[in-house]
Amino acid sequence: MYKQSCTNLLDLPEADVKKWLDSFDSVITDCDGVVWLFNNPIEGSVETINKFKEINKKVFFCTNNSTKTRGELLEKAIRLGFKMNEDEIISTAHAAAAYLKNRNFNKKVFVIGSEGITKELDALGIDHNEVGPDPITSNLNQFVSEELKLDTGIGAVIVGFDEHISFPKLTKAASYLNETDCIFLATNTDERFPMPNYVIPGTGSIVKAVETCAERDAIVIGKPNPNICESLIRDGIIKPERTLMIGDRCNTDILLGTNCGFQTLLVGSGIHQPDHVKAWLEEGTEEAKKLVPDVYLPKLGDLLKFM
Ligand SMILES: [Mg+2]
Repeated sequence: MYKQSCTNLLDLPEADVKKWLDSFDSVITDCDGVVWLFNNPIEGSVETINKFKEINKKVFFCTNNSTKTRGELLEKAIRLGFKMNEDEIISTAHAAAAYLKNRNFNKKVFVIGSEGITKELDALGIDHNEVGPDPITSNLNQFVSEELKLDTGIGAVIVGFDEHISFPKLTKAASYLNETDCIFLATNTDERFPMPNYVIPGTGSIVKAVETCAERDAIVIGKPNPNICESLIRDGIIKPERTLMIGDRCNTDILLGTNCGFQTLLVGSGIHQPDHVKAWLEEGTEEAKKLVPDVYLPKLGDLLKFM
């Protein structure tokens, strides 16, 4: 319904919103900027998500955030009041580890990222480096001639969010990726985090840096790559045309919805706003149109009064 029209649900008669609510059985929602912002739930989101479940809609949290395991994300969701289970959490850290496991990967992984990734690798019995600070302690000459040591067992590089990104890490990743059979995964390509006063670089900034020096493109695990929802569709857990994708970022969340044939809802509590969508509609190219959501709400909690 309302295919790629960015219709504001608050402009519709109540009966039409209710009809729209009946047009999907499953909800896949982004987390940051939709249900929570850092450690606080966004007003009304807890009640709305729990209400979805009460009226028998399947709900999945789908996040490109690679810094937490599914278990840690579940713990956060429960602490904030969301009634979720671990199999309803879709995360890029878990999906990246599962990608390797599904391909019978038996070498070691070089991770640029955090423990969210290494703990998910541990859970699947996949060996990896230690994450954390790896700064250059002297100068480039000394680093290359004395300090740089490569691990010969590396068969894959995973790049996720890493607040300790450094020259040595980039050097090592690019050197491992010089071997053409070394698998190159990126958890996601989000450019920045939704913050009111600063620009916090997102994983996409780090992925671009590694891709540039490695002269290779990563396989992106997270949204908008349909890989992340593949098993839900393949195993018949969701029907694409009866599934609603909710997000605050159009080039990941809404594009994933378009790519998978889901219905889409943009909420204005995070990155993208109706003005952005208006510009894409005016641009009118096929690529720009894919970013346009079916419907829009200022925030998810605005739905509650119709449920
Ligand atoms: Mg978001």
